[in-house]
Amino acid sequence: MWVNCDALGIALSLVTWLLLVITDFIVVRFVLFAWFTSSRPRFRWVPFTDLGLFLMALYQLLLMLSLVSHVRAVTTDPGTISLSSAPDGFSNARHCKLCQGRWKPPRAHHCKTCRRCIFRMDHHCPWINNCVGLSNQKLFILFLVYTCSSAVFTLLLLAAGVFYWLWSQSSWSDAPPPGSASLICCGLVAVECFAAVLFVSDFLQEQVESIQMNSTLVETYQRTHGQRASFTEHFMAIFGPSWWTWPFPFPSAPEPDYTEPAIADEEVWSQESTDDHNSLGIAGEESEEMMETVQEPGARPRQRHTRDGNQTD
Ligand SMILES: [Zn+2]
Ligand SMILES: [Zn+2]
Repeated sequence: MWVNCDALGIALSLVTWLLLVITDFIVVRFVLFAWFTSSRPRFRWVPFTDLGLFLMALYQLLLMLSLVSHVRAVTTDPGTISLSSAPDGFSNARHCKLCQGRWKPPRAHHCKTCRRCIFRMDHHCPWINNCVGLSNQKLFILFLVYTCSSAVFTLLLLAAGVFYWLWSQSSWSDAPPPGSASLICCGLVAVECFAAVLFVSDFLQEQVESIQMNSTLVETYQRTHGQRASFTEHFMAIFGPSWWTWPFPFPSAPEPDYTEPAIADEEVWSQESTDDHNSLGIAGEESEEMMETVQEPGARPRQRHTRDGNQTD
């Protein structure tokens, strides 16, 4: 099994799992059990109303998919180069000094934390204690999608809880107010979910841009990209050709084509891009070595939009 021995990465992965479990406990305890139970439930062993049963099942499914996607993203090899030398006839082959002179395909980059070259490395993400590369990009994107959906669903459940409480108050003026434990826990979960939606949707937008442009984060710094085709073709190069595998958290990317060229962007060299390189202190061949030390993306030098001060992914 693939696991990086990086203390920060392991700690952040554990924090992610802990947040998912604690959020689940609080929502089930203070929202679903508080407002969606019945004295005469359909099934004797689960005290929920029919709506409660449906919400409970859907919520557990979303959280489970989010958790499993995360675990798979953490434990899947992101794209170690399996060939030690370039195929015969491949011109201008690069070799990685840090990988004992093994072949470094045009779209591969050396990750300092993973201590190897990763094919189509996007960035090293401590939240999954792993690189995001071609082989686990699907799992990373699914984790973002399911986490964002779970956070939105949690906020809707909390809103439903508030609505039911207000409704019960106006119906029975002597109804007891919610306990302070419930208020504090639900308040904290609401803040966590708002933050998660903002944070994760930002990551997700960048992943969609990455697919659209067929350009990983490292490549956007280097102003290069892969062969451009339609969005669907770029998407299927990561998620695989079978649509039914797309929502499930297991790797389904086709075999990597290491000979894929890294093509220079056509845009006119603007002042902005010069500034990007200056701020990174990189130039020419040095730029790649510099980029490979990127842990989490800094201000992503997307040509499409620039967000000042965005220092995380
Ligand atoms: Zn290397
Ligand atoms: Zn890495």
